[in-house]
This record gives sequence, C-alpha cells and structure tokens, in this order.
Amino acid sequence: MGREREEISPQAVAEQLALCERLRARLTAEGRQPLALVDTYGCQQNEADSEHLRGFLKQMGFAFTQDEFEADVIVVNTCAVREHAEQRVLGNVGALTHTKAKKPGQIVAVCGCMVQQPHMADKIRKSYRMVDLVFGPHELWRFPELLERAMEGRGRVFAADPFDGAVAEGLPVSRDGGVRAWLSVMYGCNNFCSYCVVPYVRGRERSRRPEDVLAEARRLLADGAKDITLLGQNVNSYGRDLGLNMDFSGLLRELNALPGDFRLRFMTSHPKDATERLFETMASCEKCAHHLHLPVQAGSDRVLRAMNRGYDAAGYLEKVELLRKYIPDIVLTTDIIVGFPGETEEEFEDTLRLVEKVRYDAMFTFIYSKREGTPAAKMPDPVSREEKQRRFDRLLETSNRISAEKHAAYVGQTLRVLVDGPGSGDYPLAARTDGGRLVHLRGSEENIGRFVKARITSGNTWALFGEVTDG
Ligand code: SAH
Ligand code: SF4
Repeated sequence: MGREREEISPQAVAEQLALCERLRARLTAEGRQPLALVDTYGCQQNEADSEHLRGFLKQMGFAFTQDEFEADVIVVNTCAVREHAEQRVLGNVGALTHTKAKKPGQIVAVCGCMVQQPHMADKIRKSYRMVDLVFGPHELWRFPELLERAMEGRGRVFAADPFDGAVAEGLPVSRDGGVRAWLSVMYGCNNFCSYCVVPYVRGRERSRRPEDVLAEARRLLADGAKDITLLGQNVNSYGRDLGLNMDFSGLLRELNALPGDFRLRFMTSHPKDATERLFETMASCEKCAHHLHLPVQAGSDRVLRAMNRGYDAAGYLEKVELLRKYIPDIVLTTDIIVGFPGETEEEFEDTLRLVEKVRYDAMFTFIYSKREGTPAAKMPDPVSREEKQRRFDRLLETSNRISAEKHAAYVGQTLRVLVDGPGSGDYPLAARTDGGRLVHLRGSEENIGRFVKARITSGNTWALFGEVTDG
C-alpha cells in the first residue's frame, strides 16, 4: 500500500523555494554559470512537469544547455506508456557514462513515470550506476531538496515510493515564451484501462482547485499565451474529488470568461465521460477551440470490454454524432491501439470500419506494448509481431488517406490561425488552425505570436499550406 493523496502545504513549497536561493548562492559563488540539461520524453503532462523542473533550476541559478558534456546537471524526465520509450531512455541514460567520465561531478537525475515502477527503479539501482538521483512524479515538488542531497555526494538518492499522489501549488515555471501553453487541471487517473500503466505511476485522480487553475491561466495570459491546453488524463472527471460543485464544463466556462483573445483546448477527454453538457459548453464558449481528442482505442466491442474502456462502438459513434450536431466543424482526433492481446483479424477490421465511419482529422496509432503489472499483460497474446505490424500499416494507410482528403477540403478557405513560430523554406511561418491543424504559411515574421487570416492553398496528409491575407 502506498501513501494516500496529500496536499503539499504552501509552507513546504516555500521551503523548497528558499532552498533554491541558498543553492543559487552556493552554485554561483565562484562566478561560474552552472548549466543544466532537461530531456523530456512522453506526453504533454511530462512537458508541463519539465517546465517546473526548469523553473526550479532557474531559481537555483542554472542556465540551460543542450550539450550533455557541458551540463553540470542532467535531468531525464521519462515516460512508461510503451516499452519503446523506456528502451530509448535506458539507451540514452547508459550513454551518459561517457559524459560523466569527461565531466567529474556531473549529476545525472532520472525522474518521471518510468522510475515510479519499482522494477525500473531497481534496474537503475543495479545496472545504471551513472545515475545519482531517481525520483517519481509525486516527488517533483521537492526536487531542490533531492538535488541538494545528490550534490552532497554521500550516496545515490532514490525517491519513488508508491503514492496516490501529491498536489502542490506555487511551483516555479520556466516556459519557452511561446504563445502555446500547458495548464494541468488534474493529475492521475482512476480508470485502469487494462493495458495502461498510467494509473499505477501517476496515482489517483486529484483536481487542482478552480481558483488555482484560474490564477495560473491569468498568469499565462499575462505572459503572452494565446493557446492554452488544459491537461488531465481524463479531464471529464475534473472536480469529482473536490466536492465544490464544479465540473469540467463549469471550469471551462470560468476560463472562457477571462478577458483576452485566446483559445482554450484540452486533453484528454475519456469517451465514457464525455457528455452532452460538455459538447454544449464547447459550442457556447467562444474561446473553446473546435477540436476534441476523443481516444477510441478500438472498434470491436469485445476488445473494448477487455480494455475496460466502459463504452462500446455504438455508444462512441452516438457521442460523435451528438457532438457534430453541436459543433458541425469539430476537428476530431483519436488514439488507437492495434494488436491488443487476442485481437482477431475481424476485430481489427471493426476498428477500420469505425475509423471509416468517424473519419478522424488525425489519429495517433500505437502497436500494443505489454506493461508489467497491468491486467492485459497476463492475457494470451498469440498474434505475431509481424501480423500486428501489418495491421498497423493498414490502419495508418487508412488514417493518412482520410487526413489527406480532409486537408484537401480546406483548399480555398480563409481561416483564422495562430502563428506560433517560424517555419522553414518557402513557408517562413508555422501556424495552427482553431482545430489544431498545422499550417505552413507564407507571410511576414512579424506575424509570429498573432492570430491572422490565412488563405489555404494546398494540403497533404500531415499539414495545410497557405498565405497570410491580412498581415
Ligand atoms: N489518458 C489518456 C491517454 C494516456 S496514454 C486517454 O485515456 O486517452 C496515451 C495513449 O497511449 C493512449 O490513448 C493509448 O492509445 C496509448 N497507450 C497506452 N498504453 C498503451 C500500451 N500499453 N500499448 C500501446 N499503447 C498504449
Ligand atoms: Fe491510461 Fe485509460 Fe487512464 Fe487514459 S484513461 S491514462 S488510457 S488508464
């Protein structure tokens, strides 16, 4: 049994911040600029966590580098969702033996979901001696204290015990200054889909208080954010644990009422909890992007049951139909797993059929990856890797064709897009539509960070192309 949910007191957070100041004095005493490298794997939640890690490091006086030979501190923020991500992390961490040999005193920290799994923390303890500090997602709020212990050099530091999860407010943030920003509204997951490791490593659902979410949104807007993505493993359960009579739709309405010209989007929304109230809210809040990521995972009812998803294909399709009644131009994206244990050819074809019915604008497709400790890991899995790959390729082909057709339909339209950065070659700007589609744009770089009108001139599977018409 792990520890239960814990709200970290403002005083405990203040102590970490005070420690940052002491470390800053120590680290910069010799007049040398300490350097840190933060390497992030996995989902947007991890990106958001890394912004806090950088925030802490900045307060300790660190500047940032991409060169591992130059860094005094390397933090690898890991993902555990699929084996492939773990293999990449282990390969890259293993290679740090060379940098440590060249830079004595360098601190290597590995944090995030991968190390919250006891077998992975053990593996690092035994086989990755170059790692000085290991800490799970629940310990991020006390990174300064853990880093100080690791820097004292009196042995390796491990902090990744089982835990339902912490909620800490007031952690420092270092963003890249762009117009797109992440905003976590809740942490953890209670759904226990049978293939998924997230509930084991991220703990139980914990919502942030609405006033904390709103205060952070105001800060982000003041800081220039124009496209805010609200994050949670299942945002539709926001507020259930707070007992404040505030659900996700209510939170969206409050965020929508904040002054300023900006967009709100969110992920992820679990289909079993996506309600008419949510669709109605999205339709009536003018700042809510017409984009919904609604991961279906599979099109076969037997597979969906085995996945413990809590809906069937017909129920999912009904929700999509209802959503399209409220928001006819909704951009729909999804996640799909191919080759779940025991998936037959016919069941896979159910997925293809569902995809043809929904016609997603974009899909994130994955081959099932066995995760230790999950129920699916014990299910018979007779289908070969080659067969799964073949199914995956077929699905990808279908997905690519539909995306290309959908993108072609934009040609000739003039859309409002947010220019979020420089592009390359003939298209000096990169922008996003309200629905989150990437647009390579011709136009002046002065438009970076602004909403502009763009005429779409062509499209392919992955993106749209166009020109600015009003900037
Ligand atoms: N909470 C989110 C997603 C979390 S993980 C949701 O429910 O949609 C992101 C995606 O990774 C999932 O939607 C799923 O498609 C994929 N995924 C999760 N576990 C996986 C596994 N064991 N193998 C392959 N893909 C997996
Ligand atoms: Fe994993 Fe399911 Fe939770 Fe998403 S909802 S994080 S897929 S258990």
